[in-house]
Amino acid sequence: MAATYENFVGGKWVPAASGRTDPVIDPATGEAYAEVAASDAADVDGAVAAAGEAFADWAASTPGERSTALLKLADRIEAASDDLVALESRDVGKPVAAVPEEIEFLVDNLRFFAAGARLLDARASGEYMRGYTSMLRRDPLGVVASIAPWNYPLMMAIWKVGPALAAGNTVVLKPSEITPITAIRLAEIAAEVLPPGVLNVITGGGETGAALVRHPKVAMVSLTGEVTTGKEVMRAAADSLKRVHLELGGKAPVIVFDDADMESTVAGLAAAAFYNAGQDCTAACRVLAGPRVHDELLSGLAAAAAALPVGAPADAGTELGPLVSAEQQSRVAGFVDRAREGGAEVVTGGHVRPGAGFFYEPSVLSGVGQTDEIVQREVFGPVVTVQQFADDEQAIAWANDVDYGLAASVWTKDVGRAMNAARQLQFGTVWINDHIPLVSEMPHGGFKQSGYGKDLSIYAIEAYTELKHVMVKLP
Ligand code: NAD
Repeated sequence: MAATYENFVGGKWVPAASGRTDPVIDPATGEAYAEVAASDAADVDGAVAAAGEAFADWAASTPGERSTALLKLADRIEAASDDLVALESRDVGKPVAAVPEEIEFLVDNLRFFAAGARLLDARASGEYMRGYTSMLRRDPLGVVASIAPWNYPLMMAIWKVGPALAAGNTVVLKPSEITPITAIRLAEIAAEVLPPGVLNVITGGGETGAALVRHPKVAMVSLTGEVTTGKEVMRAAADSLKRVHLELGGKAPVIVFDDADMESTVAGLAAAAFYNAGQDCTAACRVLAGPRVHDELLSGLAAAAAALPVGAPADAGTELGPLVSAEQQSRVAGFVDRAREGGAEVVTGGHVRPGAGFFYEPSVLSGVGQTDEIVQREVFGPVVTVQQFADDEQAIAWANDVDYGLAASVWTKDVGRAMNAARQLQFGTVWINDHIPLVSEMPHGGFKQSGYGKDLSIYAIEAYTELKHVMVKLP
């Protein structure tokens, strides 16, 4: 029988008020393997109330105390790593060999947030007006609703929960309805180190998320998700003027200049395009190649894609697993089919893999135009387009000519050319001669419709605080 998981609210496991559950599907087989609480507005009320009750004490704890608690949480996550790897691999369809690195990274992220709790800064206190002392406080906001996506479920949960708790807020976390299992496990682990109500986890879909956004006692909503969801959240949050923190989609351009080293570029791009089956907001999905390297790059990438070991996530040799859901599989197939009908050449891949599970072949497309749907919109699958630009100016113009602005990369041996491109690219992260690595200390977030507010770094913790000016009249 499928395991059934409840919500974690106020330090206790509770079923959905309606008693209803939703199935969780294994993307490698298409079979349901667990049931989770189908939460509605009543469950949201309960979770927000529990977080509200816990807020005063948590906000009154010292940064050092919060830091110690988060470091303990990081240790316990690390100790549960094998278990978490298996759960995440099954829930998302991630190759089991790839997940340990993700757990290692998110543990490091959490340790950074723990340290950051003690390192918030601002302007010096002082007498900026004669006879008065001014000082700044960074106060927590209250109850934060953290709404996470399905592509890196536990990592995205940590990116939201970590800085919010470090700053002294309490949290209601709602994982994606598609991949809720590791967030539930996180609640179980956190129960050992955090006071009841500080971290609450409730499961459910978009409606549950929307009820959190509407809730008058939620002070801030932090969403990682699609651009359309970000717009809905922002509209709904406007009613109560809640703070919103939005990490949305991407369509990362990869500019390969004619002087780039071809061998390392092809290897780097193949890794950055197909990692997590391309279901990555920074995936290297939109290659812009110089005239002299275009053909070699296209054939090199196509060969690398065709050689990727596709298979069951549980097999140690698998590098590309299934997509997360049947819906995602047909979405990806739809993009490629429409591009093909519009005249694109599918150099490799371009098909759903028949049989059980939601697999899609790693695909490389050429003959696409700048205004084509496949160049302009996020596919979120193992699909890369390659375009040939005429000169540096056109490369930068095409790179910037999308609604998104999350991440970009530039490949060249010429430092000046790279720096010039980095200056002009309208993206929150620009890599030079690599694509995809992130570090805990540096911010990650979007320009343009990729959202605003930063994840990771001290800026993420700042985003979960409100600056307060205290002005004292001196005797
Ligand atoms: P999604 O927008 O469908 O769902 C994200 C979360 O929002 C889920 O928990 C969902 O239940 C909830 N939700 C849906 N409608 C809602 C509403 N009206 N109000 C409140 N909550 C609602 O996104 P997804 O398909 O889970 O994730 C993929 C998307 O996330 C991609 O676009 C990807 O680029 C983006 N993403 C961005 C980053 C980043 O750092 N910028 C990182 C990972 C993923």
